[in-house]
Amino acid sequence: MTDTFEAKGKRKKLVAELRQKGISDEEVLRAIDTVPRHLFMDPAFLIHAYVDKAFPITSGQTISQPYTVAVQSSLLRVKRRDKILEIGTGSGYQAAILAEMGAKVYTIERFRELFVKAQSIFTSLGYSADFFYGDGYDGMPQYGPFDGIIITAAVAEVPEVLLQQLKTGGRLVVPLGDSNSQVMTVVERTGPDGFEQSEHGNFVFVPMLKGTVNGK
Ligand code: SAH
Repeated sequence: MTDTFEAKGKRKKLVAELRQKGISDEEVLRAIDTVPRHLFMDPAFLIHAYVDKAFPITSGQTISQPYTVAVQSSLLRVKRRDKILEIGTGSGYQAAILAEMGAKVYTIERFRELFVKAQSIFTSLGYSADFFYGDGYDGMPQYGPFDGIIITAAVAEVPEVLLQQLKTGGRLVVPLGDSNSQVMTVVERTGPDGFEQSEHGNFVFVPMLKGTVNGK
């Protein structure tokens, strides 16, 4: 798989658009400028890859809108070598952004088909992350605690199990709400039993669902 001159040019325009929309974290913008988003989508949809929109992938799921990826990545406040857990691998694009930013990424997906596909794209691009097929509601206690946890699917309530897998000072970034609309929420762990919550605008995600799906 190859990146192209044309795609690189389109990414520069996308980065300029994201700046205009208020994204200011230079590391996030650099990662978006670097990661070839079109390779995470069906090749037939190349023309849509650098438009600031979500797009369908397999299994009825979506690759998040670049603006949404930028907001969530900024809110995580990723530092190099941070351990980040992602719930909802999907296409693998968000995980690649975090890997490009120097994070050690653990990512979980409930659809086997997506888990397999995202992993193979990742490897062919030379990124590394730990991929898991499973239910993100359980988190990854064996690899925690984490500096950051990012949920890329909508939940009605913050999953308590995941809060317990955050380090003190760690941040969980999650779209909270019903299936129509969610509020991007950050829960920061301030101590063993202390959590502080803040809100960062409205978004729409596919729902976080229980259990796994094996097969097509
Ligand atoms: N981060 C993705 C966006 C994926 S959309 C990207 O960059 O492309 C949300 C994903 O969350 C879907 O693939 C969906 O299958 C997955 N998901 C939903 N509930 C889940 C759960 N309980 N555990 C793991 N993944 C889940």
